[in-house]
Amino acid sequence: MRPADATCGRFAPSTTGEAHPGTLLAALLAWLDVRHRGGRIVLRLEDLDHTRCRADHATRMIDDLAWFGLDWDQTVDQSTLRAGHEAALDALAAAGRLYPCACTRADRAGGRRAPDGGWAYPNTCRDRPLPAGGWRAVSEAVRVRLDDDRVDLVDEGGLDLSQTPALEMGDPVVKRRDGVLAYQLVVVVDDGAGGVDRVVRGRDIAPSTATQVLLQRLLGLPRPTYRHHFLLLEPRGGKHAKLHGSVGAAALRGRHDAAALCGILAHAAGLIDRVEPCRPADLVAGFTWDRVTRADRVATWTDHLEISP
Ligand SMILES: [Zn+2]
Repeated sequence: MRPADATCGRFAPSTTGEAHPGTLLAALLAWLDVRHRGGRIVLRLEDLDHTRCRADHATRMIDDLAWFGLDWDQTVDQSTLRAGHEAALDALAAAGRLYPCACTRADRAGGRRAPDGGWAYPNTCRDRPLPAGGWRAVSEAVRVRLDDDRVDLVDEGGLDLSQTPALEMGDPVVKRRDGVLAYQLVVVVDDGAGGVDRVVRGRDIAPSTATQVLLQRLLGLPRPTYRHHFLLLEPRGGKHAKLHGSVGAAALRGRHDAAALCGILAHAAGLIDRVEPCRPADLVAGFTWDRVTRADRVATWTDHLEISP
């Protein structure tokens, strides 16, 4: 039993598909970050998107991570945390922060480019009131009016995440038109409720961090320490894209045993000097972020996983 005040981290994959090499890398880094501090780590399965998530993906994710050699102090389905999500929306509504929005992506196109590569939302509907039935009665998207403050933030790895989210990204959606409660809200609520004080995740999510910090402030939640790590990319049309579904856990497990795969990923991360089999537990004692590469890596799959230096 670890003390209640120990460091707490989490790994929070969405259960929209199979684990891929980037999933395992992100899980390994989040796990090592906490384990080498003697802290607790929670596996939180982000399963709210009923249009894309499937229960069998969650079951397989759990199995694939266990096969890879990772263990968790707690495993939780995000869908069981609904009461906390609704309480947060009630609090934001009571503070006059929520508003309905029917704007589409096409409405934003050609406007301001957001730091995440999409189009910023120009807060067009900010003055629209919620209907009499409150946020639950809105059939459009629901957004939260952020303060127009600049967030000065450098993550633990030195990545500058400073932003004026209300301007650069626009007010975030907290409830989608299809009723699904949105990532930006639930990630903040769940980290706060779970006592998560270290968030380790891929750099693709970094542009959202300032928005999440403002949501924490609105909800009176503490700000965890953030660290954003390199990504595995795949070659695609001359450009490198984040490695997604090109190779899934079933194919990986068919070709590599867990220790061999861990060795490939640990070497790519800079944690070991040669590609050789190892287990995550072998890496705990010597783990330091000083060794972890900052540059993204390119992964290729022919009949086996290869990651170029
Ligand atoms: Zn709008």
